[in-house]
Amino acid sequence: MPELPEVEIHARNLRRWLLGKVIADCRVLDPLVVAFGEPGFLAATVQDRRVLSIRRLAKYLLIDLEGGHTLVAHLRMTGRFVFDGYATGPVEKPTRLVMDLEEGGTPAGRVRFEDRRRFGRVGLERTENVHLLPGLSELGPDALVEPTSAARLREIMVGARRSIKAVLMDQRVIGGLGNICAIEILYRAGIAPETPAGALGEDQVREIASIIPSYLEWAIDAQSRRELIYLGEKGAENVFTIYRREGSPCPKCGSPIARMKVAGRGTYFCPGCQR
Ligand SMILES: [Zn+2]
Repeated sequence: MPELPEVEIHARNLRRWLLGKVIADCRVLDPLVVAFGEPGFLAATVQDRRVLSIRRLAKYLLIDLEGGHTLVAHLRMTGRFVFDGYATGPVEKPTRLVMDLEEGGTPAGRVRFEDRRRFGRVGLERTENVHLLPGLSELGPDALVEPTSAARLREIMVGARRSIKAVLMDQRVIGGLGNICAIEILYRAGIAPETPAGALGEDQVREIASIIPSYLEWAIDAQSRRELIYLGEKGAENVFTIYRREGSPCPKCGSPIARMKVAGRGTYFCPGCQR
């Protein structure tokens, strides 16, 4: 499931594929993919527009177009953008939206939004109003671009009874971290995921704050080396240290990695390192 690292990889790919190019044709193949507004209006408005910039805000992708509109995409569970090079003809089955590109009046490839489970969404908004959209308007500082200081994290956690894992996954606190990030960050920090956030010591909070950006850089790098396929999809490779490794020995202490439910989600942890 895509979180900040996977969305960041998408943003970098989309810059390579789309920047400066004109969307010569846009087709919505599955109306469900359009989060708000009319699918026909979206396709028509995007058409013949040049792509000016690609931004990532937490787990959102923003494609800014000439003419003052922005395509906003959220990949949710299995959504992904793929580049088909110079392919023409019929598109593959889980495709929800297609954009045919041009550069200097000649075809410059095709970008598709693919989504097997159909939770991913795309919407069109005036660029100046994007930050007002539900979900985007409540985002906390981006975990990678504006790393949260230990002081800010401490302030947020004072007296907090919910688990540290729930705090890390709260998009209003820190934008971009999800279940996998929280699991891997807390493992690296040696902190049990169900620990009430307010019960953490100053050193532990400082440790978490310093691990977040370095973990994200690592996860982006580790998954940039081959085609990005999400875990659970055919051909995926598990690059993570403990996520989905129940029963495997912990690389640090050898204890079998365990799983329990924290903050409503399946959570992996090392009973030896994360007490
Ligand atoms: Zn361990």
